[in-house]
Formats: sequence, C-alpha cells, structure tokens
Amino acid sequence: MQFRDLKKQYEVLKTDIDSEIDEVIASSGFISGKKVKELEEKLAEYVGAKHCITCANGTDALTLALKAWGIGVGDAVFVPDFTFFSSGECPAAEGATPVFVDVCEDTFNIDPEKLEQAIIKVKNEGRYIPKVVVAVDLFGLPADYTKIKPICEKYGLFLLEDGAQGFGGEINGKKACSFGDISTTSFFPAKPLGCYGDGGAVFTDNDEWAAMIRSLAVHGKSGEDKYNNIRLGLNSRLDTIQAGILLPKLKAFKEYEVTAVNTVAGWYNKYLADSGLKLPVPKAGFLSSWAQYTIILPDGADRPRIQVLLKEKEIPSMVYYIKPMHLQGAFQNTDSEKADCPVTEKLCGSVLSLPMHPYLEEESVKFICETLKSSL
Ligand SMILES: *Cc1c(COP(=O)(O)O)cnc(C)c1O
Repeated sequence: MQFRDLKKQYEVLKTDIDSEIDEVIASSGFISGKKVKELEEKLAEYVGAKHCITCANGTDALTLALKAWGIGVGDAVFVPDFTFFSSGECPAAEGATPVFVDVCEDTFNIDPEKLEQAIIKVKNEGRYIPKVVVAVDLFGLPADYTKIKPICEKYGLFLLEDGAQGFGGEINGKKACSFGDISTTSFFPAKPLGCYGDGGAVFTDNDEWAAMIRSLAVHGKSGEDKYNNIRLGLNSRLDTIQAGILLPKLKAFKEYEVTAVNTVAGWYNKYLADSGLKLPVPKAGFLSSWAQYTIILPDGADRPRIQVLLKEKEIPSMVYYIKPMHLQGAFQNTDSEKADCPVTEKLCGSVLSLPMHPYLEEESVKFICETLKSSL
C-alpha cells in the first residue's frame, strides 16, 4: 500500500501527461512560455485571485512574498509552531524574527486568540516590529481566516497564507490561496496538487506586489528588459515540463480528486468512529483538501509500536510533525526559541498520519482502520 499513490494517479492520467511532456520536449522551450502562462491563468481562476506567479517551489514562493514586502531585520513574523520548517525558515532567512504561536488541537492550525496575545506581547516589548502573520493551512484545512484576518487588520499586519498543503481547501465556498494579502502554494509531488519535481506559486490581487514578485523571481529584472536588473532577486521559475504535467493534473483535481479525498476522509471517520481516537473533522463551512489524514493517539499510546504493527500489515504511516518549530536546532539561541506552545508539544508526541490520496479504495481504508484499532 502507498502512503500517497502517485503511480495510480499516473496510470489514470498517463495519456494526457505523456503528450504534454512530449510536446514540451519537441518544442525545446523548457523554461516559461505558453504552457506556464496557461497554467498561471487557470490557477488564478480556480483560486479566485487576480494574479498567479509560478515559481520553483513553495519555499521560494514564501520568500518572494516576504521580499516583495521588504521584510527583514527587526521585523517580527508570527508563525504557527506546528508546521513544516519552511514557514519559519523563510522569514528567518530574510533576517526577520519568527515568533512561534501555538495551534488549536482540533484543527492543527494557528490559534487566533494566542496569535493576538503574541502580537500584543511583541508590541509591548518593543524589540521587534510586528509585520506579518504566516497562517498555514495545515494538512489541507484552511486556517481560520474569519478570525485571523480581522486581527491582521486591527494591528496593521500583512497576512501571508502558506497554502502549500491547503490548495483545494475552502471556507464557505471561497478557495484556499485567496485568503492572504499574498498566498503561496507548493507543487511538491506529495502535496494536494503536485508536479513531477519541485514547483510553487504565489497568488495576490495586488498589481504592484505581483509585478514585484515577477521581477524578484527572475533576478530582479525590470518589467521590460530581462538584462536590466533593478534589484536583487532569485532564479525561481517553474519548468515548462512541470507546467505541462500540472495542466491535466489540475483538471483531474478540480473534476474529482478533491471530492475523492473527502470521500476517503469520510470512510476513515466512519470506520474509526468507535475507536476512541481524536479524528480530524472540519468545522461547518470548512472544506479540507486532505494533504494528510492525521489522528491524535490517546495519552500513553506507544506510537512507534503502533507504526510497526501497521507496517507488518504493509500499511505506511508518518509522523507530521515530530518536533515543534521553536525546538528546531536552527532556532536555538535565538529569540524564536522562546515560545510557549503546550498544544504543539502534545501534538508532536501523539499525531499519526495515515495513507491518504484520491485513489484509495474503501476496502483499504476499512483494513487500515481495523488494523489500527487492533493495534491500540
Ligand atoms: C511543503 C511545504 C512548504 C514548502 O514547499 P516546497 O515546495 O517543498 O519548497 C512550505 N510550507 C508548508 C506548510 C509545506 O508543507
């Protein structure tokens, strides 16, 4: 059994994907071009953002947003403590100070109340200027923007939506990657919408930031002239082959994959209903794109042992994430290590992610659930 079955997906989409790849190779246009433009238009339309700028990966997408806003030394950037490293790595790499905020146990996403408390604390201390909130749509579920947005507005902070895992999610019909002042995503193969290598995208409604990000992504070029470099940037473009691969994948994603993963999540919740486990159930109005299906094991459960028992039945499982951000080695002896995040610490010791993808069958889910229950 696969944790995320990319082979099965390729079997289904092979004809279209192969012909896209062949076309790119025959054209010898490997960087940018018509396919990248077509993909950007389709992504922007799907998400409901005015601009989409594709780039080399989801980490660069975050960096491009922070650079467009001129975030750097002396700035505080608020980041959930429970996330993938990039969310905090990118602001720190720009010289800013990540301030790690605890998450809600029932959504795995940043806790809006604790976010506001953290902003007030940083303001009062006066050592750093609060500038940005990075809200992460963890495991496919959009963060609670109905509460986070007003907080950003109240304190005059930019909202950066890290939608690397959230692409395809929704709140009341509005799509993930449209909630931030700037929003980003990743097309890493295992993400909800993945390509066959690295890829990413930035979304915004703001014309000025969009132009700035386009420039930053290509060595700080001026709008008209590629060899007139008016600022320092990155080399961060999406390969044309990856854009070609993403076109049929986006179509499948829109037509049935998001629905399929929600069906799979429904089976898990049904077969685990009597397990006593804490299950991920999106609140009313929220739709997840299920980058992960993650449960919380009961206190005292032997997680490594449970993983071994699952593996004996050829069921792969993963621990996302085993370490809070503020305890990562890179932040030791910096102000970022000073964080009070008991929920994250508890989650890091008790979460377990199970196989999840649009091609998983009900029989397999049932088998996973039965094996898991008997291993508890
Ligand atoms: C994967 C991920 C990223 C980084 O994306 P890459 O394309 O791997 O650079 C950023 N943030 C989160 C939350 C992620 O899961």
